[in-house]
Amino acid sequence: MKKIAILGSTGSIGTQTLEIVRQNGDLQVAALAAGSNVERMEQQIREFKPSVAAMWSEEACRDLKVRAADTGVRICCGMEGLLEIAAMEEAEVLVTAIVGMIGIKPTIEAIKSGKTIALANKETLVTAGHIIMPLAAEHKVPILPVDSEHSAVFQSMNGENKERVTKILLTASGGPFRGKTKAELKDIKVEDALQHPNWAMGRKITIDSATMVNKGLEVMEAKWLFGVDLDRIEVVVHPQSVIHSMVEYEDGAVMAQLGMPDMKLPIAYALFYPDRRPLPGKRLDFAALGQMTFEKPDLEVFTGLKLALDAARAGGSMPTVYNAANEMAVSLFLERKIGFLQIPELIGACMEQHKTAEAPDVEEILRAEQEAYEFIRRVIN
Ligand code: NDP
Repeated sequence: MKKIAILGSTGSIGTQTLEIVRQNGDLQVAALAAGSNVERMEQQIREFKPSVAAMWSEEACRDLKVRAADTGVRICCGMEGLLEIAAMEEAEVLVTAIVGMIGIKPTIEAIKSGKTIALANKETLVTAGHIIMPLAAEHKVPILPVDSEHSAVFQSMNGENKERVTKILLTASGGPFRGKTKAELKDIKVEDALQHPNWAMGRKITIDSATMVNKGLEVMEAKWLFGVDLDRIEVVVHPQSVIHSMVEYEDGAVMAQLGMPDMKLPIAYALFYPDRRPLPGKRLDFAALGQMTFEKPDLEVFTGLKLALDAARAGGSMPTVYNAANEMAVSLFLERKIGFLQIPELIGACMEQHKTAEAPDVEEILRAEQEAYEFIRRVIN
């Protein structure tokens, strides 16, 4: 029996992880954590019977204590709750499926307590990869990617000599606005940006896909996960989302992982690695697919991706500023307080005024995050 804990159990990755638990009798849930969705958490507690559950919001936590009083599950709150779950001995694997930099401290705690990390929360690696990766190496803790592109890269490196890798090719669908001009993006509505052509995901990452900021974050994530220089990571737009990513080797061979777009595949791969478990669902039909196409990303239109590459090159605290500015700009966009094109504009303005600190510790990272939020608040007001 493999015991897992899930941070972000009520979200898109969290609920798909629980579907895999339903389908595999040898997985057991030790702990669950979420932000404020008490109703769904209560259902999950009743179905999966974890020993601990945590809610971020105090109000939700109080509410859950009442609702789940008869279950015997221990309920804890806030960061303390996340850290307790991250460190609990009972769980062998921690699935980090929360959104944003809030994942940094729990991930560090879980590594220190020797847990395998199934990492979906890319923001943690983007901002604190220089802390997380050496710490994981020190504690001999595997960081297994859940992000579909990184899982594809990981699968394409299985059994290979990593020294022979010449390039990582991260594929991108291009999002709902591929091929559009900047002028056409000016009046994009929230509803349009939430329509991803191939993947059903949480709201924040769906907007990140529409701006292509997500691909920028993934470049930074890949740099840390696979220890490759930025100039060896290339973004290839592949609208059909059939090839999930590729790795090129010194002899010119390119290894790729293909499949239907279904996040349950990379989640299950991380949970059962190195095994593969049966997964119901549609299979690729190449004749029906007919063709696969590829193109370069348009960095003139999708400036959020260009800024990510700049932030990655600057390194240090700049990726934090990039990520924090994006997090805030995306929530402002979702609240309809700013336009679609203002997302990259705010990121750019925020980066411009930031003086990069070279190897920030966690406190400095969190300070840079707050400074970015503060800057955007001033600009917006
Ligand atoms: P969702 O918005 O669907 O879910 C987020 C989850 O995190 C919810 O359970 C939410 O709880 C919880 N949460 C939010 N804030 C806190 C907090 N402060 N403390 C505890 N829990 C919190 O996001 P996704 O599942 O889409 O994404 C999760 C992560 O995975 C992101 O980093 C994303 O980039 C990454 N990812 C997602 C993919 C996808 O297909 N969805 C693909 C690849 C990567 P509540 O419901 O109560 O608000």
